[in-house]
Amino acid sequence: MRKISLLGASGSIGVQTIEVIRQHNDQFELLAFSVGGNVKVAKELINEFSPLVVSVQTKEDCEALKLEYSSSNIRFVYGEEGLIEVATVKEADVLVNAVMGSVGLVPTLHAIECKKVIALANKETLVTAGHIVMEAARKHQVPILPVDSEHSAIYQCLQGEKEKNINTIILTASGGSFRDRTRDELIGVTREDALNHPNWSMGAKITIDSATMMNKGLEVIEAHWLFGIPYEDIQVVLHRESVVHSMVEFHDTSVIAQLGTPDMRVPIQYALTYPDRLPHPRGKRLNFMEMGKMHFEKMDFNRFRCLQYAYDAGKAGGTMTTVLNAANEVAVDAFLNGKIDFLTIETFIENAMSKHTIQMAPDLETIKEVDLDTRHYVRSLID
Ligand code: MG
Repeated sequence: MRKISLLGASGSIGVQTIEVIRQHNDQFELLAFSVGGNVKVAKELINEFSPLVVSVQTKEDCEALKLEYSSSNIRFVYGEEGLIEVATVKEADVLVNAVMGSVGLVPTLHAIECKKVIALANKETLVTAGHIVMEAARKHQVPILPVDSEHSAIYQCLQGEKEKNINTIILTASGGSFRDRTRDELIGVTREDALNHPNWSMGAKITIDSATMMNKGLEVIEAHWLFGIPYEDIQVVLHRESVVHSMVEFHDTSVIAQLGTPDMRVPIQYALTYPDRLPHPRGKRLNFMEMGKMHFEKMDFNRFRCLQYAYDAGKAGGTMTTVLNAANEVAVDAFLNGKIDFLTIETFIENAMSKHTIQMAPDLETIKEVDLDTRHYVRSLID
């Protein structure tokens, strides 16, 4: 039995992680989870899995649950401390981190110290503090298994390969909901337009990130840290079908790709079973005859400016990726709440980055400070 703690159980990746656990309930056991403000989901999961620890966002929700389940042995916790408790629950082998945003960073670091295997869907953790997370993982000899489909693909392509033989990492991008629009056609697009992703069903924040191409930008930075590859050797290619989930080109010109139908349960399950594989009875198999063709196109960095900003931030290094991520989180939230236009997301990120003075090799305190300062600054632009 693999014993699992799950941060972000009510989000898109969390829900699909639960599906994987259910599908193989002879292999996996859910021991602890967090649900943010979604108490209804918490109750359903408590009744189904009888966990040891449950974390919610607020003290009020926590007290109410304690009262309702007073006859049980479940430990109810809340806030950032609650996330850390879920991440470090003694009996668990693996932490699935599926929360959204840099709030996932500190619990991940605590889980690494407790030697949990990390299945990481929370890319903001690596974007904002990749050097700290990877150093901690090395020090405590903890594997970081990617749950993001592209990085899972690369991880699979690299099995049995040596890092020194890699020439290029090629990340594929579906292009998001606005891939066929010009910049002029992006003026006045609505939240609903942006949330209508052609291939993948995901949470709101990541769907907007896909439409701005920031998601791919964050993934470039994530790949840099996970695989130790310089930014010059990470490429992005537009691939509408989302069938090739990413590729690795080696020095001998060989390219290894990982393919499949777009289904997040596959990379989730791979991270939970690695280096083994289990069947996926509800998965749809790839039919090459039906598919017939696949398409690959060059990325337009002028059209998708957030991708350029991400490369710029990554190459600049230090605290710049923290600024990129924090500015993006606040701007996307403002767009989702109808406070700013779609293209203003880009403008605010650019403003935050050009205003920032980089600090190299920042410690955790500096990162937290820069993260907060950037959020304040972008909020002041919104107001
Ligand atoms: Mg992805």
